[in-house]
Amino acid sequence: MEAIERLSQSIRFKTVSGNWQEFSNFHAFLERSFPLVYQRMKVQKINDYSLIYNWTGKREGAVLFLAHMDVVPAEERDWVVPPFSGEIRDGYIWGRGTLDDKCCVMAILEAAEKLLGEGFTPNKSIYIAFGFDEETKGHLGARKTAEHFRSRGIKFDAILDEGAAIIEGFMPQIKVPLALVGVAEKGLASFDLIARGDGGHSSAPKRNSPVERMAKAIERVSSYKSKAVLTQAVEMFFKTISKYMSFPSSIFLKNPRLFLPFIERSIARNPSANAMLRTTMCTTIVKAGMADNVIPDLATATVNVRIIPGETAQQVFDRLKNLLSDLDIEVMKNERWEVSDPVICSNFGGTFFESISKTINDIFPQAVVTPFLTIGGTDSRHYKDLSSKIYRFAPILMNSEEMKLVHGKNERISIENYKKMIDFYYQLIKRE
Ligand SMILES: [Zn+2]
Repeated sequence: MEAIERLSQSIRFKTVSGNWQEFSNFHAFLERSFPLVYQRMKVQKINDYSLIYNWTGKREGAVLFLAHMDVVPAEERDWVVPPFSGEIRDGYIWGRGTLDDKCCVMAILEAAEKLLGEGFTPNKSIYIAFGFDEETKGHLGARKTAEHFRSRGIKFDAILDEGAAIIEGFMPQIKVPLALVGVAEKGLASFDLIARGDGGHSSAPKRNSPVERMAKAIERVSSYKSKAVLTQAVEMFFKTISKYMSFPSSIFLKNPRLFLPFIERSIARNPSANAMLRTTMCTTIVKAGMADNVIPDLATATVNVRIIPGETAQQVFDRLKNLLSDLDIEVMKNERWEVSDPVICSNFGGTFFESISKTINDIFPQAVVTPFLTIGGTDSRHYKDLSSKIYRFAPILMNSEEMKLVHGKNERISIENYKKMIDFYYQLIKRE
């Protein structure tokens, strides 16, 4: 099948953000690969490397499909095949981007090309936008593309981005694959901690040095547990999965408001489940010291926070300041770090959510569709004012082992799954 070969070829472009020539080459490859898309749609470049496709529909309204062309770097050692080879072997297409996120870029265009070949015209206008720096926050790609739409007054009835998938073995008790459709997204921010002091010679140390205070701060941040918050997305998720759990979890999850403390004590011991229930804080960068015999007069750390819908970055900043108030540590905002409030729950009673669900059921009949809270950040957060219905889902069936392949070694997608991805976008567009 030519589509399999094209995905394989797409992997050979090392589109790591910053390798700009690779992006230009990749653009040319897309134009060669999808002639009808490039003839019949209006294709535009934004900020040199983002792409927008506009397919005019028969009626009012517009739907936007998002994906990103950039990939995270890959070190060749430990891979079974070179990561940018796109090798096809054992029923899989191998390489960086096969799961995140060239599979979406290519599958969306494959579906569109096929529909154009059949003479199809959508009811609503279809927009497709591909960013080029999602893995490094999307400030040059998605953010600028969103600004472009905003400046032209274009809004969307619905947006579909990556951000969740169909997972087998999400929880050991659940035997059915769960099609997780992200209807809300946690916010994110980073804050800097700064401890200052006298420094001096390490042969005559004093207590309470900046390093010592910073160590206490890091320990406090790690052990801090924000209050559990049951968001609408997670409530719906728990209720859906309760049908597949055994007693007593089934009762707890069916009535999550009532049994939140029990849920917290049981399933929330799992880090991903815990992240769905609360704002989390994690120290990611620590710096101090220049020489082995000098007490540093400065220690700094960066705390990355992921904010549960319902709270704001400012509230978490204030909470962090409070938490460390007795340690003589400055807590600072730094312009280097993005501050992004959570994206609240999209209305998931709408027709587009229904279309997504139906399409999933048609192509993955064994999967159970459920609303979900996306705990990572996606490009779609830059579009939050452009639609009240933003969904995060890629039609990829993965077990928990395969999930580790995303950003990991030996990233690969099965040929069978990739064909289903194309079919998913094909049927979904056809429903619009
Ligand atoms: Zn991605």
